Amino acid sequence: MISADYAGKQIKRLAQMKYYPRGDKEALQELAEALQSAANEEQAKAVVSEILATATSDSVCPMPAEIQAAANARKGESRPDPLCQICGGDGWRTITRGGYSGSDRCSCWAPRPAPAIEFVPLPGSPGYVPPPPLPSRDEIRRNLEGLKSWVRASEVKL
Ligand SMILES: [Zn+2]
Repeated sequence: MISADYAGKQIKRLAQMKYYPRGDKEALQELAEALQSAANEEQAKAVVSEILATATSDSVCPMPAEIQAAANARKGESRPDPLCQICGGDGWRTITRGGYSGSDRCSCWAPRPAPAIEFVPLPGSPGYVPPPPLPSRDEIRRNLEGLKSWVRASEVKL
């Protein structure tokens, strides 16, 4: 949760915008409260920075609903916690019911910003690692036959 003090300081950065509610305590508090819906201080600061980055000398100070919408948009889609101890970050945990195991959605899903884009080096550029060679046809055939015999052996009679 972002403190009212921090949100208020961030809102003050909008002071140079047209129709900024200078001196109107209630209106400024409304703006700060809207910014408090951001996920954390870093995102609250980013919301204000984004507004200022696109503002011109004619831009008017955003309304609380616009600030709240920008804060919510930054929160992002629901994603698992990449550092979750239960699911290891993939968002699914293994459960066992009636002797059968399966997967269930982990409790760590929450709105989170998109993970940083990872740049993979292209072939021919420094750091490029070629993929492992594809298995031979014989290897694929052996694996498939092994899988078929495993399915036949583990078929359950109902
Ligand atoms: Zn989890």
